[in-house]
Amino acid sequence: MKKISVLLTLCICFTHGFGQVNSNESKIESLLKKMTVEEKAGQMTQLSLDMVCDGNPYALVEPLHINPDKLRNVIQQLHVGSILNLGTTAHLPQRWQEIISTIQEEAAKSRLKIPVIYGIDAIHGANYTAKSTLYPQPVGIAATWNPSLAKQLAELTAYECRASGIPWVFSPAMDLCRNPTWPRNWESFGEDIMMNTVFGAAMIEGYQGKNMGDKFHVASCMKHFTGYGAAISGKDRTTAWIPDRQLRELYLPQYAEAVKKGAMTVMINSGTINNVPGHINHELLTNILKGEMGFKGFTISDWEDVKYLYTRHHVAKNYKDAIKMAIMAGIDMTMVPVDLEFTPLLIQLIKEKQIPITRIDDAVRRILRVKFQLGLFEHTHYPLSDYPEFGGEKFKAQALNAARESIVLLQNKNNTLPLSIQKPLLVVGPTANSMRSLNGGWTYTWQGEQTDKFLGDKNTILESLQQKLGAANITYFESFNDDGITNLSDAITALKSGKFDNVVVCMGEFSYTEFMGSISDLHIGAPTSQAMAQLQKTADSLGKKITIVLTEGRPRLITDFSEKAQAIVLALYPGAEAGQAVTDILFGTVNPSGKLPFTYPKYANSIVPYNHTQLEEGFDGFASGKNKYFDPLFPFGFGLSYTKFSYSNLKINKQQFAKKDTITFSVDVTNTGNTVGKEVVQLFISDLVASLNPAVKNLKGFDKISLNVGQTKTVAIKVPVQQLAFVGIDNKFVVESGEFSAAIADKTIKFEVK
Ligand code: BGC
Repeated sequence: MKKISVLLTLCICFTHGFGQVNSNESKIESLLKKMTVEEKAGQMTQLSLDMVCDGNPYALVEPLHINPDKLRNVIQQLHVGSILNLGTTAHLPQRWQEIISTIQEEAAKSRLKIPVIYGIDAIHGANYTAKSTLYPQPVGIAATWNPSLAKQLAELTAYECRASGIPWVFSPAMDLCRNPTWPRNWESFGEDIMMNTVFGAAMIEGYQGKNMGDKFHVASCMKHFTGYGAAISGKDRTTAWIPDRQLRELYLPQYAEAVKKGAMTVMINSGTINNVPGHINHELLTNILKGEMGFKGFTISDWEDVKYLYTRHHVAKNYKDAIKMAIMAGIDMTMVPVDLEFTPLLIQLIKEKQIPITRIDDAVRRILRVKFQLGLFEHTHYPLSDYPEFGGEKFKAQALNAARESIVLLQNKNNTLPLSIQKPLLVVGPTANSMRSLNGGWTYTWQGEQTDKFLGDKNTILESLQQKLGAANITYFESFNDDGITNLSDAITALKSGKFDNVVVCMGEFSYTEFMGSISDLHIGAPTSQAMAQLQKTADSLGKKITIVLTEGRPRLITDFSEKAQAIVLALYPGAEAGQAVTDILFGTVNPSGKLPFTYPKYANSIVPYNHTQLEEGFDGFASGKNKYFDPLFPFGFGLSYTKFSYSNLKINKQQFAKKDTITFSVDVTNTGNTVGKEVVQLFISDLVASLNPAVKNLKGFDKISLNVGQTKTVAIKVPVQQLAFVGIDNKFVVESGEFSAAIADKTIKFEVK
């Protein structure tokens, strides 16, 4: 036991610097000794702001007002250690500062003066702060294939959260999404494990900086541990079946890496794996996360999920049992968040010795560790005047830059794009004049339904186009929406007038998240298909061109009509500057450089990720020929540019490698087109023969470069041979000897591992 604790202290010291850590650890121990059972249970409780405001949960009195009696009860009687945002409105930073200081002043009056840790869902900027800067949603960030940009955006988000007095963000989500129907597809980084690992780690580095306790950084919260995005039904908070091998290959590495990068909090999967609810999964929470991965921070339940163990999951017979099960499995802090029963029940469980005090101390120690690391005992928050750059030009420029880099050009027949600014444009479709469809959920409110009000001063696609061409040169008709066809005949008449050569049709999704976004049909919807059929027929008969602008958070099926459209531009919730960014792409002011972070399916019943096995490729071997199974509309990693890139000289530093070696690939990339452009160089590796069905290929490296016309750059990508490992029959990672093939664009090369 002693050995383990020496080792534990050593580990923490290596990660965070000896002096500081030692002094924090001894402060934690002395505080722990002073704490009563009631105070410990309070630290393990997180309530939502609803519980300290006038009104009732989910039905607060507006404008929001902190009720001093409720706050006093929550802090002084229940000793609550954490409060989180509520999803119904956003505040200016000044107002946030007032809210946070009122809460912290109450905490400062408590016996032990332990500060409250306030947490917020800030997933694409400080999205609950009015006038903050909003960046692309995570799936859009992944589409940039630019992790250093992701890191910068997270740094800016941390700055604007701290300006609001908030030191903890519930981000990044690293829920590898293998079923795109799942309504939280857009909150993570796509279908690939490397993408989720690299982008998750980059955002954690950005949020936390070198010291999450300084005034410009925040604690991150990786989520939702783990397998949340693997729900078979594609519906929110449902069942996943994940064999151990797949768990280790796809659903743990991103967390192991995040822990190495210093992530100190983790939120738990609200669904189940193999019928074990995430919140009682002792193997995952305690053995793997805290044991194997050496996670020293605290786990937090998701919203009401401990109570759900008996109200939804039916694995506990009452609330008290549910609490016991969750805490014994490894939950440290519970996002209760809208009842006052949790804490007294937890106290009972401790007093009845149903939960050993050692487990409670472990949880509280972890929570206090994060509070110390965040510097909350010295500064619960800093004055707004310390953040003069809040909402400023530097932030806006980065939001625009990121939005531009996130947009993916999926189709461009006969160089339809870029459009000419000399010609008037017909614009059609329900998402053309909406900020909601450019920003998605978690935008000022949980569901993002007030985005158009909050972002009234920002341009929609339609407004940006009007600015670009002059309002007189843009004719707009909504034409259709989710409920049916509206004024489509006006659009058809306008098209027939001969005034327009090009039509831009804006379609896709508005904002949603969690269960509110659960759908039963990935198809984009009948009204859109019907409207497109009519528009396309008219356009074809007159020789006019249709460009589709898709704004969505998951790949809604567009196969009915996509082939006939001349051009398709995909905007994955690029944020507040998206109107401008889409316009820049449409007119070629900016050359598109985004690439798909997921496979865009062609058929509803053929949802297969890019790194499937040979079996999903198709069946070959009978005289009747090959039956092709894998046939996406657009493949993972795909995206066009207005210029052309050619690849040559793919080289490898050796032909044979030992298992401890690192492979270096190099390739020359040349811009052979007529305009400057950014290219994402993607390296895929295939294990040609393995003891278990190998994936046809796996992404093993990438780099984004910029090339002037005619310019050539040599790109080197290093891959440690150990990264070629897969999880073998014994559930352990193994690199098997044999032949491999590597591909960068259209070039391939073989090598051997000895
Ligand atoms: C979501 C989490 C979120 C939490 C707090 C939950 O319903 O699943 O992702 O962080 O609410 O708002």
